[in-house]
Amino acid sequence: MFDLNKLLRDNIKKLVPYSSARDEFQGEASVYLDANENSFGSPLSQAYNRYPDPLQIKLKEKVAGIKGITPPHIFLGNGSDECIDILYRAFCHPGRDNVVICPPTYGMYEVSAHINDVEVRNVPLTLDYQLDLPGIEAAVDGHTRLIFLCSPNNPTGNALRREDVELVLNNFPGVVVIDEAYINFSKYRSFIQELPEYPNLVVLQTLSKAWGLAALRIGMAFASPELVAVFNRIKPPYNINQASQELALAALGQVEQVNRWIRETVHARQQLKTQLEKLSIVEKVYPSEANFLLVKTTDPAGIYGFLVRDGIIVRDRSRVELCEGCLRITIGTPAENEKLLAALNDYQRLKMKGE
Ligand SMILES: *Cc1c(COP(=O)(O)O)cnc(C)c1O
Repeated sequence: MFDLNKLLRDNIKKLVPYSSARDEFQGEASVYLDANENSFGSPLSQAYNRYPDPLQIKLKEKVAGIKGITPPHIFLGNGSDECIDILYRAFCHPGRDNVVICPPTYGMYEVSAHINDVEVRNVPLTLDYQLDLPGIEAAVDGHTRLIFLCSPNNPTGNALRREDVELVLNNFPGVVVIDEAYINFSKYRSFIQELPEYPNLVVLQTLSKAWGLAALRIGMAFASPELVAVFNRIKPPYNINQASQELALAALGQVEQVNRWIRETVHARQQLKTQLEKLSIVEKVYPSEANFLLVKTTDPAGIYGFLVRDGIIVRDRSRVELCEGCLRITIGTPAENEKLLAALNDYQRLKMKGE
């Protein structure tokens, strides 16, 4: 049913990728005069004068060990955002093909579609933030190339039902993208281990959230070796810079530290939820499998402005469909969470006094 050759854009099938100096010669030598680099060195103490490994072999081996998968299943992008863009460029003919997105969800799926001149078919989540399967079936046609599923979902925080995701994977002949940016905070399993079952599956993860490396810009796409080979042909040759590769490799050695933060965050998420639910300005705190809470309030704009004046920034999602009244609040350190709660209590007291 899944036919990669039929799905790929014609220009991508015909593409002769750029061949860098480092593609043509791999191995060790003593004199490198093949890439027009500065042979004297760089003005920094590190040797940044040489182009980085285009395929990030060392970093992928480290990721492979942690994720329990082999390097040919791994593509690294300059943030997940580059992985998303490459999916459009591989599969969607501009002005002709379409993709299915299930809002409220991550904004980049739609922005990237517009950049690539690809039609977006919105199939909103149900009221309990799950997939509208009949809606998805009705939206898909012969030109639907990608379906984006985000689980745990941003900004709602919940995970999608696994049977629903499997139903999409089993029935959609295009590519199903499951964005697992928040999987480290969830009690549910990743779909990475299902890759052998589904040639049409792409799992996105990132080092920007639980791993604490948002500034390095490293996104990960896990897929079949055939799909990864396609992404490698399309990507800019040196999409992950040397500093990011080295720093990410060092950071991935600190799994215990990261796991401690994850446990702390999950614990604080429950505590903060309980505390928020006691406030009369809070109507509902949605269950969360992520490192944030979606909080329905009586007066989102007023609360948002009050918090800003107190130096606390949260995300106002109240104008997003199905998120009316809602603020999205990231779980911070214990001190930050305390400060947030104190400010919300202040706001509530002022309101009760009628200002
Ligand atoms: C934060 C986030 C990402 C991460 O994007 P990067 O470009 O890797 O920083 C991806 N998907 C979702 C749903 C997110 O919320």
